[in-house]
Amino acid sequence: MEDRKLQDEPGRVAALHRYEVLDTPREAPFERITGLVRAVLNVPISTLSLIDTDRQWYKSCVGMDSTDLPREQSFCTHTIQAREPLFIPDTLKDARFAQYPSVMGKPFIRSYLGVPLASPDGYNLGSLCALDVQPRDFSLGQVEVLKSFAALAVDELELRRIAQMDSLTGAATRRSFLLELEKTISKFVRRGQPAVLLTMDIDHFKRVNDTFGHPAGDTVLRTVGHRLQAILRKEDLLGRLGGEEFGILLPDIDLHQAVQAAEKLRTCLEEAPMLLHEPLRVTASFGIAALEAAHASPVLWLERADQALYAAKRAGRNRCCTAPTGEILARA
Ligand code: GH3
Ligand code: MG
Ligand code: MG
Repeated sequence: MEDRKLQDEPGRVAALHRYEVLDTPREAPFERITGLVRAVLNVPISTLSLIDTDRQWYKSCVGMDSTDLPREQSFCTHTIQAREPLFIPDTLKDARFAQYPSVMGKPFIRSYLGVPLASPDGYNLGSLCALDVQPRDFSLGQVEVLKSFAALAVDELELRRIAQMDSLTGAATRRSFLLELEKTISKFVRRGQPAVLLTMDIDHFKRVNDTFGHPAGDTVLRTVGHRLQAILRKEDLLGRLGGEEFGILLPDIDLHQAVQAAEKLRTCLEEAPMLLHEPLRVTASFGIAALEAAHASPVLWLERADQALYAAKRAGRNRCCTAPTGEILARA
């Protein structure tokens, strides 16, 4: 089972991309880990590398310059092919690595110890490495320490992923959805880049739970999430705002296009049954609010879309309503 995962390159790359970590800035938890590796293993260089389709990328790198490397020049590409650490006591005596630019030239790597960063589902995402500019050995204790640090790095990635993604529906969590709204507002303020927010609430969802049970309700929520995701563009973001309420952020779109998109989303829910062996059709109501100068915070923007959503509920459900533009919010 495990060995099959070592051969499953598309699965491995998909697992890595789920963490949404590639090309993000340096961050303290990972800097701390490579800093500790350097201090505890007494090496001049430590790196935390992730192996993408065709490049090695450093989330953290201390003691040398960090630039992306093609995989054929990467030590870690070899490390991720096994479960156990890769140890190279002298790179010049190893035909696989002696010609590497990082061995022949700066930083003149002579020894390497790398521990694979294994995801909980068994994919090697990259490796945590201790590097030296002279040949050397590592004690078993040092190898164990590096393994523990590698596990901590994966824990950090995993916790971040959990904080970002709702496990039932695959949508963004409320927290990360609000952060994205904030970024969208600042792009609007700085560059006038438009965006439209939809809020959506499943109609009479309590009845689903009451009639078919809570697990069936969960299945419906999961199906709703998948159906919406299947229609949305790559740049759109689906978030789960609460129990059976979702937010949909549509960047770079005008109100007219957003209304069409909302209609498409509404129809994709009602047009096919939601539960296996049950003719149950589920509908939802949508509120639509274009980003305006008055929406200085995500909360105000959400309130605006929610007002339109309540109007859709009051008007009989299974419909989309648009918040009137140019009106200042009447705050309770
Ligand atoms: P309306 O058309 O007015 O929205 O009616 P509704 O029944 O959908 O209204 P309400 O918001 O009162 O009900 C939402 C229900 O969603 C209540 C709650 O038990 C259920 N719910 C919330 N989270 C979950 C969940 O994760 N799983 C399941 N199965 N049910 C959930
Ligand atoms: Mg609700
Ligand atoms: Mg509801």
